[in-house]
Amino acid sequence: MTDVSRLPGAAHHHWDWQLRAACRGADSSLFFHPPNERGEARDEREKKAKRVCGGCPVRAACLSHALETRERFGVWGGLGEHELRTLLGPAREERDDRDAVCRPAA
Ligand code: SF4
Repeated sequence: MTDVSRLPGAAHHHWDWQLRAACRGADSSLFFHPPNERGEARDEREKKAKRVCGGCPVRAACLSHALETRERFGVWGGLGEHELRTLLGPAREERDDRDAVCRPAA
């Protein structure tokens, strides 16, 4: 018989907050922008999404998840993409580029 005692346990505690999300069952296009959406249309969509987040009982867990997973797209925890990116700083590729510039020549 296979010994599974050393395998990690169930990981539902990492995501079960999603079961209580105010956006559960909502149209995801409210939280993630369609291609080429800009300006006022994007602002209005994000405002509507943030209103849903405003009454969400798991907002803190959602934002924490977004920051831990470095989520750069969509509305998470009541924050839009611009706000998330400000908190997260440059994307990995941008940091790598910056590192390359700062690296001394061999
Ligand atoms: S904070 Fe907003 S995006 Fe996050 S689970 Fe709640 S309603 Fe959904």
